[in-house]
Amino acid sequence: PELQNQIAAGEVVERPASVLKELMENSLDAGATRLSVTIEQGGQGLIDIQDNGWGMTPDEIHLALTRHATSKLADASELNSIASFGFRGEALPSIASVSRMKISSIARGADTGFFVELEAGKVIDSGPAAMREGTRIEIRELFANVPARLKFLKTTTTETRRCQNAFFRLALTRPDVRMKLTIGGRKMYSFRDGQDLVQRLTSAWPPAVTEHLLPIDHERHGYTVTGVASTPNSTQARSDKMLFYVNGRPVSDKILLSAVRDAYSGRLLSREYPQCVLFLEVPVEHIDVNVHPAKTEVRFRDERTIFSVIRSAVLSALEQNLE
Ligand code: ADP
Ligand code: MG
Repeated sequence: PELQNQIAAGEVVERPASVLKELMENSLDAGATRLSVTIEQGGQGLIDIQDNGWGMTPDEIHLALTRHATSKLADASELNSIASFGFRGEALPSIASVSRMKISSIARGADTGFFVELEAGKVIDSGPAAMREGTRIEIRELFANVPARLKFLKTTTTETRRCQNAFFRLALTRPDVRMKLTIGGRKMYSFRDGQDLVQRLTSAWPPAVTEHLLPIDHERHGYTVTGVASTPNSTQARSDKMLFYVNGRPVSDKILLSAVRDAYSGRLLSREYPQCVLFLEVPVEHIDVNVHPAKTEVRFRDERTIFSVIRSAVLSALEQNLE
C-alpha cells in the first residue's frame, strides 16, 4: 500500500503548493474560522497548518490516513461533483507517504487531543497531545524519499512563491475566515475575519486597481458569475491578473482567460491589462470529471456557452460602467 500511496502522491501532490492547497481545503471543510500557515524553505523544510475546525478523534485520525477514507461522501452523485476536483480521500495518505508528517487534533468537545507521527507513511509515534482546539498538521522532509519528484521541483524562491499564491487564491474564496501566512519567519499575510473580496484584494493588488473594481453579478443558462473586474483606463497594470474559480475551487483555464480578454478588447489603453477575480458556478454535470487531479484544470462540456457567459458577464459590467 505504501507504493500505491507514493504513486497516488505523484498525482495528487505535485509540489509543496499542492500540499498546502489540499491541507487548507481540509481545514476549511472542517469548519475552521481561523487558519494559520507557516512555510519554510519553499515548503520542503516545513509546511505547518493550524486550524480551529471541528478536529478528529484518535480513530478518525487513523481513518483519515487510510486511502480512500473520506468523511465527505454522501452518495454516488456527490462523488461525481467532488471528483471533478480531484481524487477523494487520498490527500492525507498520499502526502504522508512522501514526507514526515505529524497530525495533532482534538475533536470538538473532547477532553484531550491526540497526535500521530509518520515517516514515509509508517506510524512511528502516537499519543496524547495537549491542545485546545482544531487540528495541526506539520509536514517535513517533503519528497525526501522521492528523488524523481525532488528533481522536478524548482528553486526555493519559486516554490515559496507558489505556496504564497496558493494561499492567496484560497484566501479569496473565504474572506470571512481569519488567515495568516508566515514564510521564513516573516509575516506575509495576516487577514482578519469578516472581510469581503475587495478588502482582501487590497492587501495584494495596487490601489489603482482595487479602488476602481467593477462588481460582477451575472446569471445565464444556469451558470452564475460573480466577482470583480478592473475598470479600463484606470490601472496601467503591466500584466494581466485573472483569477478564476469554478464551484469554489481555483482553476486555470484558457477559455476563461480568452473570454475575459475578448470582453476587454478595444477598451484598454495600450499596455494595460485586464484584472479580475471571477467565481463561476456551473452545474456539476457540465464539467468533465476525468481531469488530472493535481492540476487546477477543468474541462467544460460546453465550451462555447462558458465562453459567452463569461464574456457577457464582464461586458455588461464594463458597459454599465460607461453609463
Ligand atoms: P478528503 O478531503 O477528500 O476527504 P483527505 O485525505 O484530504 O480526503 O482527508 C481525509 C479525511 O481526514 C477528511 O475526510 C477529514 O475527515 C479528515 N481531515 C483532514 N484534515 C482535517 C482537518 N484539518 N480537520 C478535521 N478533519 C480533517
Ligand atoms: Mg481533502
